[in-house]
Amino acid sequence: MLLISIKNLYKKYHTLEKEISALENINLNINTGEIISIVGPSGCGKSTLLNILTKLDKPSSGSIIEHDELKIGYMMQDDALLPWLTVLDNCTLGLKLSNNLNDESKKYVLDLLKKYKLDEFINEYPNNLSGGMRQRVALIRTLAIKPNILLLDEPFSKLDIDSRINISDDVFKIIKELNITTILITHDISEAITLSDKVIVLTKRPGKIKNIYLINFTNTTPSLKRNTKQFNILYKLVWSDIFNE
Ligand code: ADP
Ligand code: MG
Repeated sequence: MLLISIKNLYKKYHTLEKEISALENINLNINTGEIISIVGPSGCGKSTLLNILTKLDKPSSGSIIEHDELKIGYMMQDDALLPWLTVLDNCTLGLKLSNNLNDESKKYVLDLLKKYKLDEFINEYPNNLSGGMRQRVALIRTLAIKPNILLLDEPFSKLDIDSRINISDDVFKIIKELNITTILITHDISEAITLSDKVIVLTKRPGKIKNIYLINFTNTTPSLKRNTKQFNILYKLVWSDIFNE
């Protein structure tokens, strides 16, 4: 089912000295339950696109049509956990701020914390956690409001390669289990290919859609997909798209 249509979207920023064109003529359909990755050179407008989808920013022209009510969970580039709040309080913050914290929603968060092996740490402060654990906390905080679309901006960029692969397996499992429509921004081509149903490659700024790859692995984990021939072929294609920018 079609969830969002992005039509002829342009975004220009105006600063005192100049005009910066960040996105040009973006057309994209997002279906319910789909995991879409967006890759492209640094500064090509990826975060801008997410900010527009969340309405933190406005397009200069074009439109975004929502075919269903969206409840957006946005995990920004920085995990932004509050250091003075415990893991549990960080995770329930969004619920508290929106007046939705009750026994049931708290239980939902506690269950997620348990499921993702953080139940022993609910009273710890973020600074005492590893990078991978912080990332899981940030994800649980985003999931706590039960979004029907998840926007993840470079969620793993601060992690080392081993944690990245483990956490991307975890995140993939979570997203698949909850069947949440997801847009993932990453500069890691392997991550894009192994986590998503569709990889969108943007050109350098101003970002335009250069290519869309449909990914069709038989059901397996992201780390297992990395050892397939199909993965290698796709990797080369996406890499050359980005490299030839
Ligand atoms: P990406 O996430 O792909 O690295 P961004 O979407 O953050 O890129 O930025 C796209 C371009 O727009 C960059 O050149 C950036 O400097 C510029 N830009 C982003 N936000 C603003 C802003 N608020 N004002 C002016 N320029 C901006
Ligand atoms: Mg960005």
